[in-house]
Amino acid sequence: MVKVINNAVCRGVAGKRIGNVKGVVIHNDAGAIGATVESYVKRLESMTNKQLENGFAHYYIDRNTVARVEDTYNKAWHTANQDGNANYIGYEVCQSLGVSDKDFLANEQATFKQVAEDLKFYGLKANRDTVRLHREFVATACPHRSWELHGKSINSVKDYFIAQINKYMGVTTPKPPAAIKPPAKPKPPVKPQEIKRVAEKGTFYPNTAVAIKHTPTIKAKQEATLGKGESVIYDSYVKSDGYVWVSYIRNNGKRGYACSRDIKTGKAFGTFK
Ligand SMILES: [Zn+2]
Repeated sequence: MVKVINNAVCRGVAGKRIGNVKGVVIHNDAGAIGATVESYVKRLESMTNKQLENGFAHYYIDRNTVARVEDTYNKAWHTANQDGNANYIGYEVCQSLGVSDKDFLANEQATFKQVAEDLKFYGLKANRDTVRLHREFVATACPHRSWELHGKSINSVKDYFIAQINKYMGVTTPKPPAAIKPPAKPKPPVKPQEIKRVAEKGTFYPNTAVAIKHTPTIKAKQEATLGKGESVIYDSYVKSDGYVWVSYIRNNGKRGYACSRDIKTGKAFGTFK
């Protein structure tokens, strides 16, 4: 459970902010090894105004304690820069010396959580304009340990801070869109092999029993038989599956095919008139 200390021990000594908060500066304290947040609060509380001029931030934070030592509507002397002091809220991530990476990263996380809360309060988003490093304002190694841990460049450290703060602001960094698959082209329906009928009128008189089908193939179901002595008046024929089939509309209204000639041998199964 994180302890919260809300005690403006710095008494507004740097004056009231004029205008809007521009953003936040996340520092590394580089203080006494392992100094606790409570010890910072005590020390600042005992300082004279003159001593406070040496510098203080609005917040001192580690993984166990969040202390606000100055109201955020007041300035703080945390950047050695007029713009930084007047317009940005300062956060000291404590114990940047003398604790494990794990503990220091946890101290950072507690800080990001507080930063997220304040940015929300001031209606700001976390981005490279609002999340700043001390070293952007003046020549300093601050934030020295975050710098070592998060890429050693202004933007890599800031982008890490921003992503972590966004986590607490409920902002998810949009992932690059997955490669968009073009919609599958609808395949044309597989047409039954087109049967190319050739128009030709005539009468077929089989001299043997021949098959009548609705599809002119050997495998197709045989619908009927046309026997010797019978005939059909056809309107067309088709060459299919090794045979010539004469074609006509059957009494049931469907197109029928009567097997009439073996293409290979040329042998007809009847006569045509
Ligand atoms: Zn700093």
